[in-house]
Amino acid sequence: MAYGAMAGRAAGERPAVLISGASVAGPALAYWLGRYGFRPTVVEVAPALRGGGFAVDFRGAAQLAVLARMGVLGEIRRSGTGGGPMHFIDAQGHQLASLPPEFAGGDVEILRSELSRILYERSLCGGGLCGHGLYEHGSCGRSLNEHGPYGAAAGAAAPGAPPVTEYLFGDSVTSLTESEDGVRVTFERGAPRTFDLVVGADGLHSTVRRLAFGPEERFVSHLGYYVAGWDLPAAAPGGGVPAGSVPVDGMPDGGVRGLADRPVGYGEPGRLVSAGRTARRTGEAGYAGEVFCVFAAAELTYDRRAPTAQKKLIAQAYAGAGWRTPELIETLWGARDLYFDAISRVDVPRWSAGRTVLLGDAAYGATVGGMGTGSAIVGAYVLAGELAAAGGDHRAAFARYERRLRPYVTRCQEGGRGVGEFLAPATREAMAARNAALNDPAAVAAMLAQGQDLAADIVLEDYPARCGGVAPSVTDGGGSIRGA
Ligand SMILES: Cc1cc2nc3c(=O)[nH]c(=O)nc-3n(C[C@H](O)[C@H](O)[C@H](O)COP(=O)(O)OP(=O)(O)OC[C@H]3O[C@@H](n4cnc5c(N)ncnc54)[C@H](O)[C@@H]3O)c2cc1C
Repeated sequence: MAYGAMAGRAAGERPAVLISGASVAGPALAYWLGRYGFRPTVVEVAPALRGGGFAVDFRGAAQLAVLARMGVLGEIRRSGTGGGPMHFIDAQGHQLASLPPEFAGGDVEILRSELSRILYERSLCGGGLCGHGLYEHGSCGRSLNEHGPYGAAAGAAAPGAPPVTEYLFGDSVTSLTESEDGVRVTFERGAPRTFDLVVGADGLHSTVRRLAFGPEERFVSHLGYYVAGWDLPAAAPGGGVPAGSVPVDGMPDGGVRGLADRPVGYGEPGRLVSAGRTARRTGEAGYAGEVFCVFAAAELTYDRRAPTAQKKLIAQAYAGAGWRTPELIETLWGARDLYFDAISRVDVPRWSAGRTVLLGDAAYGATVGGMGTGSAIVGAYVLAGELAAAGGDHRAAFARYERRLRPYVTRCQEGGRGVGEFLAPATREAMAARNAALNDPAAVAAMLAQGQDLAADIVLEDYPARCGGVAPSVTDGGGSIRGA
């Protein structure tokens, strides 16, 4: 049975879609679904939109064009990180090679937390459906409080027209039972509800995927490296060089906080530790910079909810490392916002099962280097567009979504396969070869061009026009949804 004919819903009532995850894919999908006349509800396990320091990027005509269609490209550009190059150094601090800003930062780089906020705000309004006035590059002009604060069910807090998207923070799906009428969903905290469709946009370790498709081990493969990141604690020493540390060429010797003044990465075979500062964050109270680590390791067993155990694993991985690594690793013990995960890749043979479908990292994640953010945005655009175009036939919509998107995201994912080896090569010879390539302008230009080609290699339907949605105001570039 199609969602358009769902039993138990009053005639004319809009189809209800539950989206699990409020990071990138979830709010982007909610925006498009709201614009096409669906009723999106987003459930997020965190008590509020997640913060966290790491930056994500968009690149290529297709990704930028989708952002422009959403009316958020201008705001994303204005909120960009202002990222610069990262310099690879040796144990004495001599520069060996530089990673150009476009390498990690693409055409536009933004903190993932800021991106979530922008998409969240946009999804509350939909494409002008809430009647709160005209958008100017992604902001409808109403303050967030008028839509309801983070962490609240937004629908309850809005005066006048309710927000297009309902948000349920601090909750998680616990079971999905499909019937003729829809999907009966139980939650950890909220009362059970029935939705026409359910979307898993809840990341690499997706709960929806586990419930509807099977255990994580079947879909997530370890790529041989781990990634960790944390903020330098505000209380980290701000001056003086601790006894035994090595003064570094061209860098202020202001203790570990000073290390972040000039983004540097020190590598040994199979491990990289870097310190830097994101220009966009310098106004944050207590912000001193961040540490980013990539190291090779076979699959490790640990509790993802136990940061102390994770810190021990990271410290072990860097035991005996040179340069000022010990000082940086020491800051780990005071870090409150540790990010730690395997660099892994998600491969789900079929992205839909009945009325449930996967999107973003839950379906085709690649941790780092796989253009996951751009793929999430493009995927949300295609999934919502196909649902709107299918006239109530979710099976046809899911099949077309997968057919159109899979070749693109699979190519993007391939970039993630080599990212660990690129950042932390396994041997001294491989490190030297990586540095030689980065010191060759022609090789760098070729690598950047390859990334751009890959990111643009999709031709997308003009769904907003086809589905009769509100006419987009593409004022900030990329009006055509055509890639290479
Ligand atoms: C260090 C690092 C650097 C990166 N750099 C880049 C980059 O430069 N460029 C790029 O394109 N990509 C980058 N990525 C990848 C990018 O972050 C992801 O591809 C992107 O965030 C995927 O978005 P998503 O919404 O699918 O999933 P996620 O961002 O993982 O979000 C999933 C959301 O679901 C929530 N959730 C989880 N479980 C549940 C549950 N049970 N119930 C409800 N909610 C749940 C989570 O709290 C989270 O809010 C990077 C990743 C990392 C770790």
